[in-house]
Amino acid sequence: MKGYCGKILRINLDERKVVKEDLNMDWAKDYIGGRGLATKYFYEEVDPKVDAFSKDNKLIVATGPLSGTPTPTGGRYMVITKSPLTDTIASSNSGGRWGADLKFSGYDMIILEGKADKPVYIDIKDDVVEIRDAEHLWGQTTSKTMDLLAKDVGDKAKVLNIGPAGEKLSRIASVMNDMDRAAGRSGVGAVMGSKNVKAITVKGSSKPEVHDREQLKQVVSDANKKIKENGVTGEGLPTYGTAVLVNIINENGVFPTNNFQLATFDKAEEISGETLAEKYLVKRTGCYGCPIACGRHCKVDDLEAGGPEYETIWGYGADCGLSNMGNIIKANYWCNEMGMDTISASTTIAAAMELYQKGLITDQDLNGVPLEFGNDDAIIEWTKRMGLREGLGDKLAEGSYRLGEHFGAPEVSMSVKKQELPAYDPRGIQGQGLAYATSNRGGCHVRAYLISPEILGLPEKLDKFSIEGKPLWVKTYQDLTASIDSLGLCLFTSFALGAGEYAAMYNAAVGTNHSDESILESGDRIWNIERMFNMKSGLKKEDDTLPKRLLKEAIPDGPAKDKRSLLDQMLPEYYELRGWDENGVPTEDKMKSLNI
Ligand code: SF4
Repeated sequence: MKGYCGKILRINLDERKVVKEDLNMDWAKDYIGGRGLATKYFYEEVDPKVDAFSKDNKLIVATGPLSGTPTPTGGRYMVITKSPLTDTIASSNSGGRWGADLKFSGYDMIILEGKADKPVYIDIKDDVVEIRDAEHLWGQTTSKTMDLLAKDVGDKAKVLNIGPAGEKLSRIASVMNDMDRAAGRSGVGAVMGSKNVKAITVKGSSKPEVHDREQLKQVVSDANKKIKENGVTGEGLPTYGTAVLVNIINENGVFPTNNFQLATFDKAEEISGETLAEKYLVKRTGCYGCPIACGRHCKVDDLEAGGPEYETIWGYGADCGLSNMGNIIKANYWCNEMGMDTISASTTIAAAMELYQKGLITDQDLNGVPLEFGNDDAIIEWTKRMGLREGLGDKLAEGSYRLGEHFGAPEVSMSVKKQELPAYDPRGIQGQGLAYATSNRGGCHVRAYLISPEILGLPEKLDKFSIEGKPLWVKTYQDLTASIDSLGLCLFTSFALGAGEYAAMYNAAVGTNHSDESILESGDRIWNIERMFNMKSGLKKEDDTLPKRLLKEAIPDGPAKDKRSLLDQMLPEYYELRGWDENGVPTEDKMKSLNI
């Protein structure tokens, strides 16, 4: 099949051995690529009960069949492993240019096995793949690592790497690429660190062949037109970046503030996309092949850096009770330098602030840097300490759940399956609450972005307070998203495109014969194999839940005042729609029907 390179790099770090294998095309037909296909390999090869930091855990970096093709946003890659944060399957997604260059080198996927005896990096230039010494890189921040690597491999090579947080096995460490892009969630950077792999550099010279170039040109042109004409992808995201959401979400009364103790922030305007564009924006940036270009480059004082994104602004801003955009930009920069997930890092600081508010963390723990809601100086210093595991930063590096547990109050962790929730209070957006609770990788908005219909009215406006029909919406969004991630495209395209457009691009590039329905069926298969992995790793129905605060306490302020999550009323219908039993386990019939 075209679109794929048809090759995997299997790298055994114990033996320092590189093997080039043929891609399993039967599996590719069922699981597409990227997230889906890498999960199939992982499911077949790794014991679900493996400890995430054991050398028997594997780490797979995978592109999709549309990565590196002329499709809009076709430059993405996924990292699949067992998460040290959630103990579930981890599948973390990033843009930039690295993913496209892996395809240009001739590989769909890299499987890292075992553990190197000392720090290494992997250099890939087409056919030549080398495992090289990385002791000179170990301990360096992410940008310094990229600078040093440019001297080793040339500045045209694309770099994927970890920072000090990954080396120190922080459970919220990210994998960074192209300077400021991140496969951020679920601690995938710590797994890479546990294998003593600091970086993977790639430089490729040939673009993947496609099935029908003329047909692809036509369907890409149609898709780009829809992206341009859509209010979110054609105007909101390009003009203000993802931070366009700050005012919208705050006005809807679902903008978590002070670690979800409130749902509106009276200083939202100061941290809005509009303020960012007016006072700090230097330029817009875009990932490979992206017509949207939602990325930002901002400047404050003498620092110019990529970001920040909406979730980061919220986490370091409202969730910590802060409105100093300059400090948020700096904290985002340091989070990327340390190689940590900005959602988990910022919200773990917010949880620490609540522990301080409750008197469980005291001044003695703080080494002179207060952890109070609204203290502007705290976020930069605590981000650095967390990345380096200094003092109390050592506990913060474990994520908010384990931090809370250490102080006897895990309930301060606003997380699902121990992964921190993003920037939408699910008490006032019922479908999003169900999507959080059932996400296969723990608290997450990009496994099913119900904000689109429930807040933005795309593709149609739903009543955000109602539970009517929400289980089907969540399932459909989960399935579609799984397919988009597996194709190698950016989820943001789905504001403008539907299953039909994705099927058309897939068919033209690969030569398949997919319909809207079969794209969703592939997503259903991917969702179910992830679920089965999680069940075998020990997850239970009880893990499909939300933090107690969001189930038991009503929102105290703003337009969504008095709302609470009605998760329990939606879950049984969701399980039934999925074809799972009352304990949330996929039935044999369901597995058979999906050929799992
Ligand atoms: S929409 Fe934003 S995140 Fe997505 S590919 Fe484009 S620039 Fe990257």
